[in-house]
Amino acid sequence: MHSSEQIQVALGERSYDIIIQPGILDRADEMLREFCSNRSCLVVTDSNVEPLYFERLKDFNFPKFVFPAGEKHKNIDTITAICRQAVGSGLDRKSAIVALGGGVCGDMAGFAAAVYMRGIDFVQVPTTLLAMVDSSVGGKTGVDLPEGKNLVGAFWQPQLVLIDPETLKTLPGDEVRNGLAEVVKYGIIRDWDFFRLLEKNVTALNKLDMEFYTRLIRRCCEIKAEVVSHDERESGLRAILNYGHTFGHAIELLSDFGIAHGAAVAIGMATAAELGVLSGRITQDYAERQNTLLKDIGLPVSIPCSFEPEKIYNAMLRDKKTLDAKIKLVMPTGEGQVSIVGDVAPELIIKAVRNCCD
Ligand code: ADP
Ligand code: ZN
Repeated sequence: MHSSEQIQVALGERSYDIIIQPGILDRADEMLREFCSNRSCLVVTDSNVEPLYFERLKDFNFPKFVFPAGEKHKNIDTITAICRQAVGSGLDRKSAIVALGGGVCGDMAGFAAAVYMRGIDFVQVPTTLLAMVDSSVGGKTGVDLPEGKNLVGAFWQPQLVLIDPETLKTLPGDEVRNGLAEVVKYGIIRDWDFFRLLEKNVTALNKLDMEFYTRLIRRCCEIKAEVVSHDERESGLRAILNYGHTFGHAIELLSDFGIAHGAAVAIGMATAAELGVLSGRITQDYAERQNTLLKDIGLPVSIPCSFEPEKIYNAMLRDKKTLDAKIKLVMPTGEGQVSIVGDVAPELIIKAVRNCCD
């Protein structure tokens, strides 16, 4: 294996590798065979991904658990069903769960692995861009409650992440763009050269150039691995990954989840940048540069005018990351740099929201 295709997430004895290679799914056999030799493995996947990719692992005869695609099924009932299937398929404490699908699948399969028999191994095989660059790396797992998203969960690291960029070819364009919001995020928070690389390759981004996507997935995983290695449980640095997300979550909520996560994060990044401008941290030109890239790849950067700024602010106050009624915001401070600010005046936040409404 060429070393550049492999990224290590350094977490002491919980360290693991991410392997990124177009076509790897056809060779996943050998890799999973090694991982699953002498033990049972249950593959968890959804109803869209199963017909596309489960068959590719058929040499194995893995037992599978298929749930209906969509965030609606990301709940405790599905976890119970996965665990019961695990019992039915004879999984014991030495067994493993393989997540084959997007973020919803990975979050649930990971959570099931965290709780089944008090915790068993698991492997992530992400098939959406969002899952490849974000949710499959870092060990956050969980499900939603009617009261809110991701309210029940656990930190549970996988033992291996296998990424086949070719699986993006069947992903609907909107889902690809969703993931691209997180990709741009990495440039703004941590790597200005990467941001400029994205700017120069808008065409490759928009036509799903495999070589370019393989390269960008690798860089995003490196950045996420580095951040998570420093701060696994989000007591400090890891919070920079929330750039655009405090605004974004509020926008998702107010749209009744009609605005997808990636689009909401793009709008959130534009709003956070506006706040950076209003508070004198960055120039208008810098904010524009971020927003231009987002727009060029088909993402929105303004808040629908029907959303009242005060309501957005109130939704931000209720975000699960808001502690003691203090909204923590990640704001750009310069090229490829951000800082976490905990004491932004509510009026300024509302003003930034207002400026971003159209
Ligand atoms: P996300 O990864 O964005 O958190 P999901 O796991 O819900 O969200 O995936 C988004 C949608 O894309 C789901 O309907 C899922 O079934 C579908 N999907 C996932 N991977 C692929 C793929 N490679 N090709 C086609 N559809 C896919
Ligand atoms: Zn996100």
